[in-house]
Amino acid sequence: MGDQGFLKQRPGFSTIAIHAGQEPEKWKSGAVVPPIVTSTTFKQPAPAEHTGFEYGRSGNPTRNTLEECLAALDGGKYGLTFASGLGATTTLISLLNKGDHILACDDIYGGTNRLFRKVAERFGMEITFVDFTRIELIDESIQKNTKMIWIETPTNPLLKVVDISAIAKIAKSRNAEIITVVDNTFLTSYLQRPLDHGADIVVYSLTKYMNGHSDVIMGAAVLNDDELEKRLRFLQNAMGIVPSPMDCYLVNRSLKTLALRMEQHKKSSLVVANWLLKHPKVTEVMHPGLPCHPQHDVARKQMTGHSGVFSFKHSGGLKESRKFLSSIKLFTLAESLGGYESLAELPSLMTHASVPEEQRVELGITDSLIRLSVGLEDADDLIADLDQAFRAAFE
Ligand SMILES: *Cc1c(COP(=O)(O)O)cnc(C)c1O
Repeated sequence: MGDQGFLKQRPGFSTIAIHAGQEPEKWKSGAVVPPIVTSTTFKQPAPAEHTGFEYGRSGNPTRNTLEECLAALDGGKYGLTFASGLGATTTLISLLNKGDHILACDDIYGGTNRLFRKVAERFGMEITFVDFTRIELIDESIQKNTKMIWIETPTNPLLKVVDISAIAKIAKSRNAEIITVVDNTFLTSYLQRPLDHGADIVVYSLTKYMNGHSDVIMGAAVLNDDELEKRLRFLQNAMGIVPSPMDCYLVNRSLKTLALRMEQHKKSSLVVANWLLKHPKVTEVMHPGLPCHPQHDVARKQMTGHSGVFSFKHSGGLKESRKFLSSIKLFTLAESLGGYESLAELPSLMTHASVPEEQRVELGITDSLIRLSVGLEDADDLIADLDQAFRAAFE
């Protein structure tokens, strides 16, 4: 057991991030830093004979390098990248057919919720949202036509922790065809490896921690199954939701410091969370790294720690939230998370505004729920900023 009883970090993470798929021998020049190949087409020695690359949408050397590295970091066989996190999700649900059912966690990224309800349903898929921390509901909610289980853990924005291995086990016992997907955006492969816990596919918005510099929109999927990989590889090309080589280069570069960044996010977020816990105006802190978190034990069983994103509730209402968020100076009021810079937002009016009000109320996404993404600034400065914002909001 490692820190605070969390799962022990596997050795070699940074070595993989720096070297996997990036052997200088891959390139004629011996380039140590993988080159950015911008060519959209590749010369063929004879008609319909190619040397591994033919057209930039179906494959690109810079992209392949990143995909290999991503696969290795998650302990998976295959990695695929997409133009965005939602692009990855769009591709994954395109594995399904009209009439198929997706069982999804009730508290997921607002854009995924919107994609499922406003797009997938229109294409004839059926979606059910359920609280995945209540394991008994999963068994009850699996239908004959259930083909995909969509887990996000910790959930967004309430930070509930879902037991991946328990759900994957139920899914497999009910129907071997069910694909269990885990959106691992909040934790990255450094803090959680869903394939180790029985998931079939890990999906990412690389836009967040994996890239970590708030300058690229990209998504990925990592998996082990040969058949599923063939189908996804086909869809990646057929649907055309692919990233640019320039962006692939940036994400690959960012992965080099992922372990360092995540260690710092992990430490600072706990310091800030513990400070909030003691603040007189704070009524609840939702952070899986705190022993008071309702699924702290599940968190310790499947995570090596928690990242910088978490939420808290205060004793005021919308007025205080507005005042608080317009008073922060070091934290930036903005959507997104996972960058080196600290962000704060109001899910009810911002990231989760697209979730129907009824569902929001049921979940507890109230106007006094604030989500933070603790960045890499000094924790003392972040606390001083929150402190003055509380004073301004509750004066
Ligand atoms: C941002 C996000 C997405 C969507 O990713 P994009 O890159 O913005 O398309 C999906 N899931 C989670 C948890 C996210 O935070």
